[in-house]
Formats: sequence, C-alpha cells, structure tokens
Amino acid sequence: MPLTIEAVPVLETNYVWALHDGSHCVLVDPGSAAEPLAFLEKNRLELTAILITHHHRDHTGGLGDILSRHEVPVWGPRDARIEQVTRPVGEGDRIEIDRPSLSFQVLETPGHTTSHIMLHDDERLISGDTLFSIGCGRLFEGTPEQMLASLDKLSNLSGELKIYCGHEYTLDNCRFALEVEPDNMALKQRFEEARGLREQGRITLPSTLAEERATNPFLRAREPAVIEAANRREPGTGNNPAAVFGVIRRWKDG
Ligand SMILES: [Zn+2]
Repeated sequence: MPLTIEAVPVLETNYVWALHDGSHCVLVDPGSAAEPLAFLEKNRLELTAILITHHHRDHTGGLGDILSRHEVPVWGPRDARIEQVTRPVGEGDRIEIDRPSLSFQVLETPGHTTSHIMLHDDERLISGDTLFSIGCGRLFEGTPEQMLASLDKLSNLSGELKIYCGHEYTLDNCRFALEVEPDNMALKQRFEEARGLREQGRITLPSTLAEERATNPFLRAREPAVIEAANRREPGTGNNPAAVFGVIRRWKDG
C-alpha cells in the first residue's frame, strides 16, 4: 500500500499528520488526543509509532492520553522536556518504521526551540514549526543565525519535496510576505490560491519546497527584493543573510 498522509486538525490552527498505509498509522505531533484517536478508530488504523518535532504543548499535549491507550514508541528530539520520547534522535539519524513503511532522515533545526527536529525522505518534509508555508517559526529559543542555518539545511533538497508543517498559517503568512515583496508574482498567485482554499474551509498544505523557495521571505534572505525590503524597514541592515533574515523576522513579529 502506498503511503497516505492526512491532516487531523486540532486546537486552533495545528495539524496532526497521520501517515498510514490503510492499516497501520504513525502520528506526528499530537497536540491533542481526542481527534487523532477518533481518526484512528474511524479509519480502523492501528497506531504503530508517534513522531515529535519539538516540545511545545500544542505538539505534545495529546501524548499522555494516546500512550495510555496505545503502547507505541515515540521518536523525537533529545530534550528532557519531552519525557515520553523513547527513541531520541538527532542530526544524521534515521527513523526506520516497518508498518507503515517509512524511513526519515533527521535534521536538527534549532531556532524556534533549541532541540527542534525536522524529518524528511525523498518525497516529503515534516517541518513542525521550523518552516511554515510562506513563513517560519518564531525565534523563542534561538537567534536569526541559528534559524537561517537550520533552513539552509534544506538548500540541497529537491524542490518537489512536499512540505507538511505544524500549523495552518498560510493565508496570514501570505499577507505579511506581500508587504515584503509586493511585486512577487508567484506570491500573489499563492495568496489567491490560499484565500480560495480557506474560503472553502480547505487545507492549504502540503506546499512544495520549490513553491516555498519562490514565495517564502524566510527562504529568500539572499534575494535582492528581500534585501531591499529589509533595508527599507531597518536602514543600514546591509546584505548579510542573517541580518536580513533577522529584520524580516522582527518585522513579522512586530
Ligand atoms: Zn512550536
């Protein structure tokens, strides 16, 4: 059976990703238990593992209740703040799961939190709160330099990679990105697309890495238009990518 990935919406804007082969299922970042448990039951799926990208409660809050019903391994970052992780992983490690058949490479991506990880194979990227569609996570525990270095780890990966991130933020992110790059045609198109999808209550994910490279200001800190915008916002910024990235991040937070 080919792998199917479905979004289970929880809390305000979170997605728990359910990766399954029609009978076995892996859950990513269960911030809540009820919805993913109902999803498993409705689709008659057996839970075989849980993957965690970072310690925030909206990504881990459902662990206790799910684990009390399903005794499964929990893969996640080495971080004492996630006590349910039984299979700690870090940079260069590989997560191998038999059913459903999965093999993810682990990237350590500090910035949003110190121990955040992203997971990818040849087709997909589980990006948690490091990379969003048209955005990136807030720098709660890291510097612009760290976050940029984390995002730069994607630079050798295929543009066809599908991005499964932790939140439905695309439409708001488009509005901000258009402030940075009002003339970016690909971005305008993505904005219209996202608006149409959200008006119908539909999900805007996954996007692709190629789309993100063309539209996401946080992947574009080396683009002349973004450098120019950063210098308009904070004169004297110059063209150092981490400095430009920092200005865009502060602008978004402001
Ligand atoms: Zn988070």
